[in-house]
Amino acid sequence: MPNGPPHEDKPKQSFISGSVGIATIFGVPIRLHFTFILLLVFLLFIGVGGQQSGATTALYILALFASVLLHELGHTLVAKRYGIRTTEIVMFPIGGVSRPERQPKAREELWIALAGPTVNLLIAVALLAWVASRQGFVALEQLRQPTDANLAERIALGNLMLWLFNLLPAYPMDGGRILRSFLALHRPEEEATRIAAGAGQALAVFMGLAGLLWGNYILVFVALFVYLGASQEGAAARGRILTSGFPVHAAMITDFRTLQHGETIRDAGNLLLATSQHDFPVMHGDAVIGLLTRAALVRAMLTDGPDAYVSGAMAREFPRVSPDIPLTDALPLLAGPGACALVMDEDGYLKGMLTSENLSEFILLRQATMAQSKLHPQ
Ligand SMILES: [Zn+2]
Repeated sequence: MPNGPPHEDKPKQSFISGSVGIATIFGVPIRLHFTFILLLVFLLFIGVGGQQSGATTALYILALFASVLLHELGHTLVAKRYGIRTTEIVMFPIGGVSRPERQPKAREELWIALAGPTVNLLIAVALLAWVASRQGFVALEQLRQPTDANLAERIALGNLMLWLFNLLPAYPMDGGRILRSFLALHRPEEEATRIAAGAGQALAVFMGLAGLLWGNYILVFVALFVYLGASQEGAAARGRILTSGFPVHAAMITDFRTLQHGETIRDAGNLLLATSQHDFPVMHGDAVIGLLTRAALVRAMLTDGPDAYVSGAMAREFPRVSPDIPLTDALPLLAGPGACALVMDEDGYLKGMLTSENLSEFILLRQATMAQSKLHPQ
């Protein structure tokens, strides 16, 4: 929007690579991860063989997609009640992922996590009530054969499965969050997180083995996602715990190079080689006017040549944080590999840079410090 406030802190790109935006609901961008295509192909594949029309197959897939999306919006709306904005919803094959702006407290997390599966239960109950009022139930056995007549029952069954699956008490499922928030009431957050992530990995190994044993490769596929999700959640939670209590300026890079807007892509390339920096703030005098990432630099070298100005290749919208906010609040900005945010004070002056690389160095140092104080208590 041309009339938007000039200093909006909204990052425009997704934190998860390989996804495309499809819509915005309640102000939350909805994105589709490319692996979602695999699920569509699979559903079409099993749908084609059955005794249902193409329209019913499409309707079934659409209904399940909508169910997963409504599940995520359930999280979004409850999070909003606690004043937590959702920065994006990404749809993966085994479910959606909502990115909250900040990590909810244990009690908030409990209700936010419960909201998603509850939506699926409500959809299932509503559909089953509707079916019962019209014709009565069909036997569960009949649902194995998809037909046009049992579409509503199959959507209800799908939602019941989403409800149960998401309540498994293991990361990254909602049940894992519920478990973690209960555990966090009586023990340190780090321990609670470790247990929930460990449960997720154990469950994934069990599912994977069962899948291999039964020759059910869908289960192996799901197990893989659960394992990766559990490890990722565990690492993210560890990052949050190890950075808590520190402001952004404690971890930011203060020794870095910038480019002036009149410099060329050639100058930028030389600086890229001469330093270990990947991203360069672009300045107009003392004011930051953009950020030139390594990818944009290489792209500009390819399309515009070395004599083009950096101001034509830089991004004018880039992640920015204040030096005094908690470091934990800046973590979502640095989730992807190679992510970079500029640290700017309220007057717009550049104070430092924050990258995913130096954040992991900060976390390594914190880990070492904590281990050292355990080994040699004062
Ligand atoms: Zn959920």
